[in-house]
Amino acid sequence: MASASADAPIACPLCGSASGDPWRETSGVYRHCSQCDLVSRDPSTWLDAEAERAYYGTHDNRIDDPGYQRFLAQLAEPLMARLSPGARGLDHGCGAAPALAAMLTDAGFPTVGYDPFFAPNAALLDVRYDFVTCTEVLEHLHDPRRELARIDAMLQPGGWLGLMTELRPPMADFPHWHYHRDPTRVGFHSEASLHWIATRFGWRVESVGRRVTLLRKP
Ligand SMILES: [Zn+2]
Repeated sequence: MASASADAPIACPLCGSASGDPWRETSGVYRHCSQCDLVSRDPSTWLDAEAERAYYGTHDNRIDDPGYQRFLAQLAEPLMARLSPGARGLDHGCGAAPALAAMLTDAGFPTVGYDPFFAPNAALLDVRYDFVTCTEVLEHLHDPRRELARIDAMLQPGGWLGLMTELRPPMADFPHWHYHRDPTRVGFHSEASLHWIATRFGWRVESVGRRVTLLRKP
């Protein structure tokens, strides 16, 4: 599956610097960036768009599933505790079942959902919001620099960005980590890479947890 390009230096998809030497796991070929600390899946082992869409179609998340709602509450609860009453938001990458948007809307924070595969209403990306959420999205972005810049443009001053992605363990533990076995995941973040993002966009890091990170645009 690997092509000759896997051996050539390529740019880190987050910070753009020449990323480290590639290595192979059973789940794909990876690089570890020494500048921003992102581990990225080499594009030679990405799924194509059709296979990616088919893979997402196998997810069995339902909008009214209590287990899924509890999972999303890990982000929704600390975010809602910080929002002004009536704050309006976008759930970016809401998938086929926009459960988080429904939870936030029901709680008094009107939220719309966008998803490139399942809810591709691009007009929603031209609006400014009090908050944007990305649950289990960051690790799927092929071009995180561009997507994060787009999110920055959508945030009002003082706006919140809630990210949910599982933090990468120390590199020695990477081979045994379950997270990269999902072939649609292409970017694996550490606390350091999330701080790199915050610095790059001038956002303040409000909190970083094993799954949930809250950032605020000044
Ligand atoms: Zn980098």
